[in-house]
Amino acid sequence: MNIELPKLNFRDRALEPLWDKVVSGGRLDFDDGMAMYRTPDLMTLGRMANWAAERRHGKKVYYVLNRQCNPTNFCVLDCKFCEFARRKGESGGWAMGMDEIFGHCEGGIREIHIVGGLNPDWGFDTYLDIVRQIRLKYPDLGIKAWTAVEIEWFSRVAKKSIRQVLQELKEAGLDMLPGGGAEVFSERVRRELYKPKIGWDKWSEVHRAAHELGIPTNSTMLFGHIETYEERVDHVLKLRALQDEAPGFRTFIPLAFQPGNTGIPVNRASAQEDARTVAASRLLLDNFDHVKAYWVMLGAEMASIALNFGASDMDGTIGREKIVHMAGASSPEGLATDSMRKLIREAGKEPQERDIFYRHVSTPDLTLASA
Ligand code: SF4
Repeated sequence: MNIELPKLNFRDRALEPLWDKVVSGGRLDFDDGMAMYRTPDLMTLGRMANWAAERRHGKKVYYVLNRQCNPTNFCVLDCKFCEFARRKGESGGWAMGMDEIFGHCEGGIREIHIVGGLNPDWGFDTYLDIVRQIRLKYPDLGIKAWTAVEIEWFSRVAKKSIRQVLQELKEAGLDMLPGGGAEVFSERVRRELYKPKIGWDKWSEVHRAAHELGIPTNSTMLFGHIETYEERVDHVLKLRALQDEAPGFRTFIPLAFQPGNTGIPVNRASAQEDARTVAASRLLLDNFDHVKAYWVMLGAEMASIALNFGASDMDGTIGREKIVHMAGASSPEGLATDSMRKLIREAGKEPQERDIFYRHVSTPDLTLASA
């Protein structure tokens, strides 16, 4: 898309060569990533990223009528930062039946986003059947389900290859994988915060296999805890390299860490940090269509601000989200459609409703709210 170049007044000369690369279609490297995290000139960085987003999408910002469903929070793992999971027999645990899961799919939504714990009582067949039954009952609903952590676990408990698991899920009706479980692709951080959980090797194996099978996926980064700027840049560059080799990522989603009662220190968490991380990601990920302002973790107002720092997707109306809210997020559990559109307009952008595949759609009843 041809759009006018903004006239930038650089207060930090270190950003000038980066801007030259961005405008000429060059690729930013690790040092450029670090320069973006270190610059005091956040507003210029934001304008650079905003231009990069508008070059792809004009003023359009995407959202989808969706809902989250977390069918179970029983989990065999025990990640330090997780306030969602429960051990078998612990109070506060749940495992939904199909009627309850169907209840999350009602209301004219276009996408259901399903993630949960690794329930020791549920074999792969139970997880597979959830997808199959939703597909049968709601043939037009976009189904985005199970993170790489879940897929890798299915493969182990079912003694099937990751590829076979994904193939069976696709045949059952799965449209897309969410991007969760990535956290930060640093072995140092993994050992410290989520040692039993998969790292980059397995996470990338799952997403590579999904892309090769024609299943698009998302990607995430959990930031604002013990990770360094170097680890953030490295994380994003790993994703960029994988996208070059096996394209299929739709969106990158920076997730602001919610400390809850975990006792993990919150580090470099502020509105400025959120905006900086969105902008740096947008400029580094030159082969990704979208960086998402995930309002559930950023908060609705901050997500709206992030739309001028390179984000071009607001995710969806959500509703019934549990994972982030059990960790103490203060954002509402759902946004009505008209609130979503208002936040996008307040950022000077044009709301564009989409389906799971980013096809433009339009739902006439704009009062449809999350349940
Ligand atoms: S983060 Fe996921 S894998 Fe880790 S304990 Fe929580 S639900 Fe289980």
